[in-house]
Amino acid sequence: MKASSTDIWQTPLVYLKGVGPRRAEVLRTELGLETYESLIEYFPRRYLDYAQITPIAQARSEQEAVFRGKLGPFQVRPVAGGKRAILVSTLYDAQAWMELVWYQNWEWVRQKFTAGQEVIAIGRPVYKKRTLQLAHPELIPLSAGKAPEQFLKVYPVYPLTEKLRQVGLDNKRFHMLFEELYRLTGFEREDPIPESVREKYDLLPLSQALRALHLPTSVEEAEKARYRFKFQEFFLLQVLLIRRKYFLKTQYSAPAFTQVGPLLTEFYEKHLPFPLTEAQKRVIKEIRRDLGLPTPMNRLIQGDVGSGKTIVALFAALIVIGNGYQVALMAPTEVLAEQHARSFRKWLSPLGIGVGLLLGSTPPAQKKRILDKLASGELACVIGTHALFQKNVQYHRLGLTIIDEQHKFGVRQRAALWEKAHPYRPHNLLLTATPIPRTLALSVYGDVDVSIIDELPPGRQPVKTLVRTEAHRREVWNLLRSELEKGRQAYIIYPLVEESEKSDLKAVEEGYEQIRSTFPNYTVGMVHGRMSSERKEREMYLFKSGHTQILVGTTVVEVGVDVPNATVLIVEHADRFGLSQLHQLRGRVGRGQYPSYAIFMVPNGNLSEAAITRLQALVQYNDGFRIAEIDLKLRGPGDFLGTKQSGLPEFKIADIVEDQAILRQARQAAEELVAQDPSLALYPTLRSYLTAYAEKHSLELFTA
Ligand code: ADP
Ligand code: MG
Repeated sequence: MKASSTDIWQTPLVYLKGVGPRRAEVLRTELGLETYESLIEYFPRRYLDYAQITPIAQARSEQEAVFRGKLGPFQVRPVAGGKRAILVSTLYDAQAWMELVWYQNWEWVRQKFTAGQEVIAIGRPVYKKRTLQLAHPELIPLSAGKAPEQFLKVYPVYPLTEKLRQVGLDNKRFHMLFEELYRLTGFEREDPIPESVREKYDLLPLSQALRALHLPTSVEEAEKARYRFKFQEFFLLQVLLIRRKYFLKTQYSAPAFTQVGPLLTEFYEKHLPFPLTEAQKRVIKEIRRDLGLPTPMNRLIQGDVGSGKTIVALFAALIVIGNGYQVALMAPTEVLAEQHARSFRKWLSPLGIGVGLLLGSTPPAQKKRILDKLASGELACVIGTHALFQKNVQYHRLGLTIIDEQHKFGVRQRAALWEKAHPYRPHNLLLTATPIPRTLALSVYGDVDVSIIDELPPGRQPVKTLVRTEAHRREVWNLLRSELEKGRQAYIIYPLVEESEKSDLKAVEEGYEQIRSTFPNYTVGMVHGRMSSERKEREMYLFKSGHTQILVGTTVVEVGVDVPNATVLIVEHADRFGLSQLHQLRGRVGRGQYPSYAIFMVPNGNLSEAAITRLQALVQYNDGFRIAEIDLKLRGPGDFLGTKQSGLPEFKIADIVEDQAILRQARQAAEELVAQDPSLALYPTLRSYLTAYAEKHSLELFTA
């Protein structure tokens, strides 16, 4: 970057003509804008075509539009028992009128405008008691029926706050500031998107795009500029992720297992418990290919609940153990770890392979035995929880880590396990039953390879999903009773949003008592997050082994638990659960050959729109990916992913749901660029943008 151009963009806004100390302060406190550079990156929310004036008679409720008319008399009306006052006026043209209203901070309106004055009014009118009302409109005075020059074309609308308006920072002022900034700088800036990329993907150059964004001559031009900036936003993240993937592969080495080894062959030929699905075979092949390379595998398996991810992980383990290396499988809960240990022991013991189980609750003496065997290499396979990556754990030759429900672990925790392999990196396999829509996955998992198991094992009967209210309680109990009589088992789930919410805990406990008295001939268990982990384990064990027929609990039974004999799931207050969560819960049943039921109980009436949409989606779809897409649309990426740990930065202008096509293009462009020049030596501007971007979003930037 040229020194002079850097300097001008770092100029404090107070020096821009039309700002001054008071406005500079408000720009800083309200919007965080301090320099010319930050101002130019403040994007309009939308555009209005000034030429398209809507006659007041054709105004539509809730639709933002440009109106033109004269102001009626101003009236100050006391409200809230005289404690406050609002300002009311009207806007009228030849055919019709609407009410204008300001609820607060309206002194400046009265100072600036007078009755009878002709204005342009911009805003979103709504009907209030049959009167069309426009609150806090943007007003532009017309002199002799003419607008100031700069409004004759397109009108960019900025996201403004009342505080900004109070100091005269309305859209009109922003337009003037941008004109002044343009006069000073010509919006000349170095472009982070390389010219070759711009040409191939038909993107406006940065300076041109900035002008089209802030001082557009047509709506089309402004849209083209917005496209470019959406592309840029995706492009920066994708370059970052793809470089990370590239450097993980090139900077670290892993043992290459070019032969599948004797164990896999023996297992496949003699002990395979069921034929694999095509999807399982495909994913195993992908894993095999990765394991044959001298670079660490970094593969995520996404598969709906019950799609059979565990045996796929076993195949990976067989290759690695068959080649003389160790495998560590980590799960987020002790219940899950134990379940995996049982499966792995069942599958591996005929092959003469021992499996260690390492939990927080493992007694010290036993723990020590396992640790010794891991360090000496005597133990080839260990399964456990967080205990697996603690300081005192040493592996002889860790060749593969498998992380189940990987999103339950933080980046650091996963890395702590990987660092147990020296001097190379282990291969990594991540499993998740929470499918993430493909395009979101490109951003969240942009640096891993994704395999998808999109097929359920044969013979599964789809879970019958019902939504019922309290009025149907008898019918629900009857269904439950008839399943119990057939020897099946059931889950009854209560919401427990926060582990500390006492009232919810009480509901679970009362529910438990109620079930016990309603079904006195059956054994009822209870499990919730407030119990000690030993008790939880015990309750889960009693249910899995068939000692208890009904398990009353909270979402602690949500993840991965496999009890094929359970055929009924009843979720109380289903309206209080998220969509993906309900789908996960539903996955607890329908895991065997019996027909199963998921019954979502809701209160009588008064369901929120969102709750209805969620329940309808569940009734309609059984496919986790479909559900995930709907959930993403309903909640937006932030809530959908739930944690800040997901590593997904917020997008300023791009929308990960709406702009999927742009994302795909940006991803492709980033792949092409990194393949051609991974160090970005040829693209210093992109490099410096990336550095700033990584810093801003606390992402790790890899350097060659
Ligand atoms: P998830 O993907 O939810 O972790 P699991 O690996 O627990 O699913 O598998 C669910 C159930 O399906 C297990 O009981 C497992 O043994 C069984 N299973 C897996 N693959 C197959 C298959 N190809 N044919 C029949 N049953 C299978
Ligand atoms: Mg599982």
